[in-house]
Amino acid sequence: MEIVAPFKEAIDATKEAGGEAFKLCYQCGLCDTVCPWNRVRTFSMRNIVRQATFGLPEIEGEDIWLCTTCGSCPQQCPRGVETIEVSVSLRRIASEAGISPAPIHTVKASLGAEGNPLREERKKRGDWAEGLSVKTFTEGMEVLYFPGCYPSYDSRLRKVATATADILNRAGVDFGILGSKENCCGESIRKTGDEELYKRLARENIKTFIDNGVHKILVSSPHCYHTFKNEYPEFNANFEVVHISQYLFELINEGRLELSKEYGKKITYHDPCYLGRHNGIYDEPREVLKKVPGLELIEMADSREDSLCCGGGGGRIWMDTPKGERFSDLRLEQAIEVGAEVLVTCCPYCITNFEDSRLTLEDSEVIEIKDITEIIQEVI
Ligand code: SF4
Ligand code: SF4
Repeated sequence: MEIVAPFKEAIDATKEAGGEAFKLCYQCGLCDTVCPWNRVRTFSMRNIVRQATFGLPEIEGEDIWLCTTCGSCPQQCPRGVETIEVSVSLRRIASEAGISPAPIHTVKASLGAEGNPLREERKKRGDWAEGLSVKTFTEGMEVLYFPGCYPSYDSRLRKVATATADILNRAGVDFGILGSKENCCGESIRKTGDEELYKRLARENIKTFIDNGVHKILVSSPHCYHTFKNEYPEFNANFEVVHISQYLFELINEGRLELSKEYGKKITYHDPCYLGRHNGIYDEPREVLKKVPGLELIEMADSREDSLCCGGGGGRIWMDTPKGERFSDLRLEQAIEVGAEVLVTCCPYCITNFEDSRLTLEDSEVIEIKDITEIIQEVI
């Protein structure tokens, strides 16, 4: 029997995105038991996989937009089903049909026109570095620092970019930035299903890197890390990519960075999904923090491989999540529960969500949110 569109289209798109791995699903439901959504509401990845398998996706409902691509269910699935790819492929179908949540339309327009999702001007992308000793990248420099969109424009996250530049200067690293020539890495818009826009952003970045003689890229965001390291090679582009938590570890071990001051607080570390589960980087940030004099590192519930997603991946950072359904609220509760005075992480999306959650606490002074660079900047 001939399969008619849109079913055929759905089957082809899911096959293309995730191979036929989704057909392995035997509907055990383990994905649903580990999914953070089921801590705050009901949601079934198992149903989404079933719909994709039979080419009957409900692309007009809310469900296909919920997955934060946190990586918990593919890690647990006993049949190796590529659940994230299934979800993203359904979003691709919806996106091509012009269906996506309203905020995503605005984000796409901003990315297309200005290369960032925040409706900011391209020419202001390097303004965060004004007045600091930050050079424009030129060929032969040790490393390109790629802060990404939020650390370039967002007033809270700019502190991360300036802390990073300060640390690099203090360690004597010969680095530069691309300023207005930098584009969004495209990782998150790809996860909302806009493959064309992702490709455009990626191609432009790759051309800029090659034209400027870039070999090694230092990033603040695990999302930039993931896409540069694991997705840009799809364009035959291979750069050395380092996340700041790894680079700090390297600089300290090589004796280029001395941690001389005390940080006498109890802290807990949150593993960002795209650094931990997606890329296996759990130890370096902890090792860096353990080297800080006076700092007490305590682990909270749902740590390392089981880290509770902040809710910002998969483009969810741009979508509205009602109070009562925010994973970041739960994460703050977990940090406070173990007696942490500071919740430390190293992802701009996590910091954005945690800061929002902190503001809704009865006493927001009870906990601080810090990027790892902000702690290191204080102790060098
Ligand atoms: S855990 Fe894997 S096999 Fe089980 S329902 Fe989910 S996708 Fe299917
Ligand atoms: S990847 Fe994470 S958010 Fe998405 S369905 Fe799986 S567990 Fe849920």
